[in-house]
Amino acid sequence: MDEKIDVNALFLGPKAENYLFFREMLAFLMDDHAEWRRHFHPDDNPVVTPEDQGRREFLATLQKTREALIELAGNLQLCSTPWFSPRYLGHMATDTLIAANLGYMLTILYNPNNCAYEGSPATTALEIEVGRQLAKLMGYDPQKAWGHITSGGTVANYEGLWLARNLKSIPLAIRSVMPELVARLDAWQLLNLPTGAILDLVDRAKEAGRFDEVRRHSVRGAGMRDKGLGKVLVPQSKHYSWTKAVDIFGIGQENLVSVPVGDDYRMDVAALKTIIDGLIAERIPILAVVAVVGTTEEGSVDELHEIVRLRDRYEDRGVCFYLHVDAAYGGYARSLFLDGEDRFLGFTEVSRQHSRQGILHDDTEWLTVDVYEAFKAMPEADSITVDPHKLGYTPYAAGAIVAKDRRIIELISYFAAYVFEATDDNPMLLGSYIMEGSKAGAAVAAVWMAHRVVPLNITGYGRLIGASIEGAYRFYRSLLADPPLALDGRSFEVIPLARPDLNIVDYAFHEQGNPSLEAMNRLNQALYEQCSYKSGPLYVNDFITSKTALTRQEYGETPRSYGGKFGIDPAEWERLGSISVLRSCILTPYLTRAACFADYWRTFRGAMERAIRRIGPPA
Ligand SMILES: *Cc1c(COP(=O)(O)O)cnc(C)c1O
Repeated sequence: MDEKIDVNALFLGPKAENYLFFREMLAFLMDDHAEWRRHFHPDDNPVVTPEDQGRREFLATLQKTREALIELAGNLQLCSTPWFSPRYLGHMATDTLIAANLGYMLTILYNPNNCAYEGSPATTALEIEVGRQLAKLMGYDPQKAWGHITSGGTVANYEGLWLARNLKSIPLAIRSVMPELVARLDAWQLLNLPTGAILDLVDRAKEAGRFDEVRRHSVRGAGMRDKGLGKVLVPQSKHYSWTKAVDIFGIGQENLVSVPVGDDYRMDVAALKTIIDGLIAERIPILAVVAVVGTTEEGSVDELHEIVRLRDRYEDRGVCFYLHVDAAYGGYARSLFLDGEDRFLGFTEVSRQHSRQGILHDDTEWLTVDVYEAFKAMPEADSITVDPHKLGYTPYAAGAIVAKDRRIIELISYFAAYVFEATDDNPMLLGSYIMEGSKAGAAVAAVWMAHRVVPLNITGYGRLIGASIEGAYRFYRSLLADPPLALDGRSFEVIPLARPDLNIVDYAFHEQGNPSLEAMNRLNQALYEQCSYKSGPLYVNDFITSKTALTRQEYGETPRSYGGKFGIDPAEWERLGSISVLRSCILTPYLTRAACFADYWRTFRGAMERAIRRIGPPA
């Protein structure tokens, strides 16, 4: 079935347009759940009687609950961010799918705990299913792969590094326990085996009944006694969970290497090669390379296909590293490339389908060969982080990790999965394979509902994410095309940072003729304050966005050229080493209609004009 979904039916809507349907479903789930309770041993007497329910204390307790709820509702309304509105273009957040919300709300009444099957027979099975769906979305073979829901991309990244670290330490452990399996290989070669070869060694250790012994000799048993497992290479654009991860896993900050990014804020693959060559020359192994599909600040897509090609070439030379893709943000966008039967489309076919099916209007001109090839190359990675609570449009907390070869989870599991899996393919005791313990089955049910209603291909998520990309491109092209804002004899230009690879647009305002980066940063910081919680209750804001700073510490000298576009004196960049920009993650699917967008754009410009007036001239 590849009937297209209608994006307008997916959300409660900016004006709660789909409220009646939502309420009807809420009534259904309450009634249905109450029936479930009543039918459990129907002959048991009710515990709470009508007489109890008439008591003063009883009524007072209900009243207390009502008042607490009203108080909470007031707090939430006063202080919450209106993600649902197209006027909100800030962080990676937007309205969540009705289907996912209902799934969450229904399931919370059952409160399953996906730590152990016993506490969640229904939702553990859903988690395994959802893991397979995400593995398939990434192009992995769902039968061979492994995937599960985490609390978010941060924990998924931790798990990715946990897998990589434990894997890297296995060959040396094998040498201690079963040297005959790795005879003739020296330490360098043992630290440079490909993932598949290491997992084959693990299989042989298991067959010999000595896997537990191997694990005891690996980093898992012995700890990070030597720092010889090597470096973790991440682009400068990395999410800061990687900085935390090397700390937590005892790898150390000094072993985290930042690979420069280019003007497109994608990893500079030539620089990656130079770094790897330098490490090889010093006989320092590479524990892992992390590529990002959808950077947190820019939405940039690293040229994964080039990184994969590089990896394969090094592998031929006996240098191997684990490859993890951090697609926490961009992962779901792979659905834009899968047809109704989940086949990855050819390049020309993608654009044809997008225009034929009305996913993107022709004038959007979004897709580039690089972005296409990067998404195509994703199944070449060892593992991938992908967050349902970002471009999956589900409520928190739902991230996910998928790994290409499920055998790898033995390296982090605390249960002899291979023993009890003999009868069942599903590892049911999730808590022994993952970082977390108790975890909400409700979050999993929400993801399952989302996937059930919105297929993970161009008939479903492709349409939804396509609409957001189209909105982002309208926004981006309007920033490029618009004349400067003329205000009281002053003139303000706005320039976007880079052509968006997905749907995040970074941009900065600048008073024409001003050579001072300090003044420009002050202006954009002040604009952010006018367009965020900082200016008071969000409910009265005209427009809400987020910001980021492109600093030398994070990005090296890359941001200098962006400053140049405004005519900023390079000496100012030398001195300050930081450019403040506004950052708009455009997840809303409601900016696609040209006529509506024209109105929207006028509103945006008006909001910016008023904000600049309020800020006033520089001191
Ligand atoms: C958001 C994000 C993360 C962290 O995910 P959380 O769900 O916030 O923990 C990691 N990596 C990237 C690229 C992200 O965009």
